[in-house]
Amino acid sequence: MGVVGAGPAGLLLGHLLHREGIDTVILEDRSREHVEARIRAGVIEQGVVDLLVATGAGQRLRAEGLVHHGIELQFAGERHRIALSDLARGRTILIYGQTELVKDLIALRLDDGLPLHFEVEDVSVHDVESERPRIRYRHDGRDQELECDAIAGCDGFHGICRPSIPHGVLSEFSREYPFGWLGILAAVAPSNDELVYAHHERGFALLSLRSPELSRLYVQCRPDEDLAEWPDNRIWEELQIRLGLEGWTLAEGRILEKGVTGMRSYVCEPMRHGRLFLAGDAAHIVPPTGAKGLNLALRDVRVLAEALVDWYRSGTTTGLDGYSETCLRRVWRAEHFSWWMTQMLHRADRDDAFGLKLQLSQLAYITRSEAAATSLAENYVGLELV
Ligand SMILES: Cc1cc2nc3c(=O)[nH]c(=O)nc-3n(C[C@H](O)[C@H](O)[C@H](O)COP(=O)(O)OP(=O)(O)OC[C@H]3O[C@@H](n4cnc5c(N)ncnc54)[C@H](O)[C@@H]3O)c2cc1C
Repeated sequence: MGVVGAGPAGLLLGHLLHREGIDTVILEDRSREHVEARIRAGVIEQGVVDLLVATGAGQRLRAEGLVHHGIELQFAGERHRIALSDLARGRTILIYGQTELVKDLIALRLDDGLPLHFEVEDVSVHDVESERPRIRYRHDGRDQELECDAIAGCDGFHGICRPSIPHGVLSEFSREYPFGWLGILAAVAPSNDELVYAHHERGFALLSLRSPELSRLYVQCRPDEDLAEWPDNRIWEELQIRLGLEGWTLAEGRILEKGVTGMRSYVCEPMRHGRLFLAGDAAHIVPPTGAKGLNLALRDVRVLAEALVDWYRSGTTTGLDGYSETCLRRVWRAEHFSWWMTQMLHRADRDDAFGLKLQLSQLAYITRSEAAATSLAENYVGLELV
């Protein structure tokens, strides 16, 4: 089995298949240092935590991850707690950086002596409609070819697998947003025990965390925002305004990392062509407001791994034939939730007074209606039945 991409999806797929005795070769075009340093998601749904723990990939995550039972919504100068675990039948989320999870999965794979090649070049996939699809790539100064039973395209949104599918096979659905997130990682203890999603007339802000010593914070910005216009003091000033609350202080600290992420919703259907199976960001993207991107990627490969195990063991293709449909049910739920959270919390147009009133009404409804809060909570912690 060939796997393109050593992000969370590719690495977990390799891990799950190895446990079932299925060989994989993982090809990654970036260096190990780069992959292990990429700061991205940090909220893991309980269902995904359970999967990682049950399959032996969750030891450090269990020890170091922070279990959260709620989040806070801030708007109109007040903060309101959404008690996730009370509303969603005891389910919680775990705060654990994607970078840490990727480090754990790489370490497991290398400890087991399994093939994981970094810094491969010119990766291309061929003959995916045949029974012997191939991956060509350049590594260690040599052109190489890998003959596979099937290929998993886990190479993210900008990878080569999805574009290699002939024109007209895939249907694509997308939405661009007129804003992005300017995110920072700061060496300061989080000022709140739980995540704070703040709606503000100047734009959205999020107070998040990575550990008891590291805060992760975001402010809504333009998608093409120039970081040079955001010296550290301007970032803190804006965070103080948007997250500010009487009687509460946002602690500041040294900014270790900053970056701008544009926002997009995207899905391609189906997530399969012949023996090429797309998983994670290679097939779909969500804006980060719902904290779903990482979770979707890991859940895709769980479905794919189970289908591949059935196929290798008994020759049945039922799971593989249903792979795309099974994943897309969850993907579209997460797409809707992520879009809904995004449009409720961000200011697309600061002059849109009507839109502002609608947002505030929706936010107030969530804090006053248990049914509305439950809907948010069960989507946020990850629905198990979709
Ligand atoms: C800046 C940023 C911030 C984010 N923040 C959040 C967040 O707060 N919450 C959340 O839930 N999600 C967030 N996400 C989304 C989340 O990180 C992704 O959904 C998740 O990484 C998907 O995992 P993946 O394995 O499918 O793809 P990726 O993590 O993108 O991994 C794909 C891998 O394939 C490799 N690759 C690409 N092309 C090739 C090639 N040609 N050959 C070989 N290898 C290749 C890449 O280098 C990469 O290692 C964020 C994403 C970004 C970019």
